[in-house]
Amino acid sequence: MSFSAWFRCFKGCGGRYPLTQIIYACPKCGGLLEVCHDAEALRARPPEYWRHLFDRRYMRTEWPYGSSVWGKKEMVCPEVDNDNVVSMYEGGSNLFRAERLGRGIGVEDLWVKQCGNSHTGSFKDLGMTVLVSMVRQMVAEGQRIPAAACASTGDTSAALAAYCAHAGIQAVVFLPRDKVSTAQLVQPMANGALVLSLDTDFDGCMKLVQEICHNENIYLANSMNSLRVEGQKTVSVELLQQFDWDLPQWIVVPGGNLGNVSALGKGFSELREMGLIDRVPRIAVAQSAGANPLYRSFLNDFDAFEPLKAQATLASAIQIGDPVSTEKAIRTLKDIGGVVEQATDQELADAAAKADRTGLFSCPHTGVAFAALFKLVDRGVIRRDERVVVISTAHGLKFADFKIRYHQAELGTFNVKPNHENRPVGLPAEYGPVRDQIFRTLDLNGG
Ligand SMILES: *Cc1c(COP(=O)(O)O)cnc(C)c1O
Ligand SMILES: [Zn+2]
Repeated sequence: MSFSAWFRCFKGCGGRYPLTQIIYACPKCGGLLEVCHDAEALRARPPEYWRHLFDRRYMRTEWPYGSSVWGKKEMVCPEVDNDNVVSMYEGGSNLFRAERLGRGIGVEDLWVKQCGNSHTGSFKDLGMTVLVSMVRQMVAEGQRIPAAACASTGDTSAALAAYCAHAGIQAVVFLPRDKVSTAQLVQPMANGALVLSLDTDFDGCMKLVQEICHNENIYLANSMNSLRVEGQKTVSVELLQQFDWDLPQWIVVPGGNLGNVSALGKGFSELREMGLIDRVPRIAVAQSAGANPLYRSFLNDFDAFEPLKAQATLASAIQIGDPVSTEKAIRTLKDIGGVVEQATDQELADAAAKADRTGLFSCPHTGVAFAALFKLVDRGVIRRDERVVVISTAHGLKFADFKIRYHQAELGTFNVKPNHENRPVGLPAEYGPVRDQIFRTLDLNGG
């Protein structure tokens, strides 16, 4: 039995396009494409077969199946030869049991899926391995593709640059000048990408990269390229594996371009089709209050959707006013009874710091998710006896400047007054003052 997949219009125009074709939108309606799998072939094997296969491969070395993305190759991208897979053994990120944080808000069963603990420090690796592998497949089949390019709020470009460097393909990244962190800027520089720093915001970079790719035959690596969703959706399977094939009730995920929420939804719905699960978890999307078009749409039952001009926010990776995957996200949320919540910079910064006090090291976007979780629990939307997973999207070390400025109360331009600040204490290198300081701190913290 062989497995196969192809592009089709997300809105159902019909038509079937090979995954090796350079095509990002439906030729009939201009809408998004999605990857469609031969569902019959997947369903021909019983659920136990898949459980056993996925578990047997998980985190092992057999190429390329030890990658948690390629370990699900049959339902991800069967069209790539194993020789052309470009993988850094992505996925398999740890599921952090957030015991103290959970207890603090009365949620006993709280977990954080650490998708940022990965090669380039964000979940973007999961999708990029599929996209860059497909580029290598296309080149191997004789297509001429001089480069792959993306616009980025930082993490997509880091992932594209790393996977392209690993494969020997030129990457071109379009970044909004002064709107990405130092770590995010240095990653594509180090990996040899052409780094374009442009005087615009993300939405401006996006417009330009689409034009250039369209005219110059450069491969577009942004999330309107639906191959990335296939890699990102494997988080749904991984969560099942990590919970011994049991499901959480809720998943909270920060949303910008809304590819990640769409991917989770696609993953769960395909798992249901394959008979691996009989219900899907509810999803809460968390947006920054300054870049909240989905939240506004949610408030009127998704009747309308208005793109907006995204305001500056500490959650820079989700500072997006006109998300690419809006329609996919809305369909997902309608299907599963999803909700949308928002958080201000003050709320996200305090939430990240509060989580850090329990041993995490949260990026601002994960801070948005935590802040949204706190509100949803307060309002009773998420019940305290439910199992909740927060998706952490990036490693906190990528946002060290955000964290140090928080703890030194230097985020005034974002109107943030830290409620959990913790500054270094400068002292002479002498026994007495050091000892006094230690006991003052112990008293203060009730030690
Ligand atoms: C890309 C990104 C997001 C947003 O994901 P979308 O798929 O665009 O909604 C959130 N957090 C981080 C750290 C990201 O890099
Ligand atoms: Zn169409």
